[in-house]
Amino acid sequence: MLLNLFFRCSCGLARLRRVERLAWMRLFPALRLYRCTVCGKKQLAPKQAAETARVSARATNARASSTAVRQGVVAGGM
Ligand SMILES: [Zn+2]
Repeated sequence: MLLNLFFRCSCGLARLRRVERLAWMRLFPALRLYRCTVCGKKQLAPKQAAETARVSARATNARASSTAVRQGVVAGGM
């Protein structure tokens, strides 16, 4: 059902991977077709939102690991 493509799953935009669009999807230039890597659901999402989610998810991971490094350094110094 094509309408299902307009409903997004709840796994989060950061889990989406780009898929090739079908011809009719070019009617929605701001939307890109994605497939969720968690549940496999295909869905249309605004390109900007998906990119932002992916970048911020990466930034969160980077922050978490650098915090761990900092804590390790502090613990080692004491
Ligand atoms: Zn999902």
